[in-house]
Amino acid sequence: MNIIKTVENLKKNNMETFVVKTREEAKALALSMIPEGAVCAHGGSVTLKECGIPEALTEGNYTYLDRSAPGLTDAEREEMMLRAQCCDVYLSSSNAITEDGELYNVDGNSNRVSALLYGPKTVIFVAGINKIVKDLDEAVVRVKTIAAPLNCKRLNCDTPCAKTGKCISLVNGGNMPKGCNSDGRICVNFTVMARQRKKDRVKVILVEEELGY
Ligand code: SF4
Repeated sequence: MNIIKTVENLKKNNMETFVVKTREEAKALALSMIPEGAVCAHGGSVTLKECGIPEALTEGNYTYLDRSAPGLTDAEREEMMLRAQCCDVYLSSSNAITEDGELYNVDGNSNRVSALLYGPKTVIFVAGINKIVKDLDEAVVRVKTIAAPLNCKRLNCDTPCAKTGKCISLVNGGNMPKGCNSDGRICVNFTVMARQRKKDRVKVILVEEELGY
């Protein structure tokens, strides 16, 4: 894994990129990028939780669109996810980051990938170095063998990968859009963020730790 090459290529792709040593530093840096009073939201992310970012948003002076807040009805949760599509700051981790400077993300509901691509004024990615892969082929394999199976287990989705630890469609390290026919399938929309038109709308904080999956 080549961190220097990854950072150089993310920057070439108009994504402002930082490297920090610890999750605490990542949290402090992410919060320093969020103006007081900002409307902010995030996708489901083990990495953000491990960094303590959702708690910090709850405690800070922000309008935090917390779709996991206790007591929300399904309709209220849906409304919150829709409002997040045009918030000020959207936070996420990434399923994989290539050394060529691309961000690869796969979603089921797809509220997260939708916000990453368009809408929020600023998007902040926080990712451990375990998310760095050589290229898009490796990114596809990473999702089919690590990210999706572990997320299916975490979310109690009844999918083949939750039981076997890998996607049934993994053939010769590729086969990106193929997958299972389960109702609980979380691999629905497959996105690659390459060179951005809006310079520095996307910010990437790489953490020199293993975080999330
Ligand atoms: S397509 Fe289905 S089996 Fe394959 S990784 Fe996604 S959820 Fe798991």
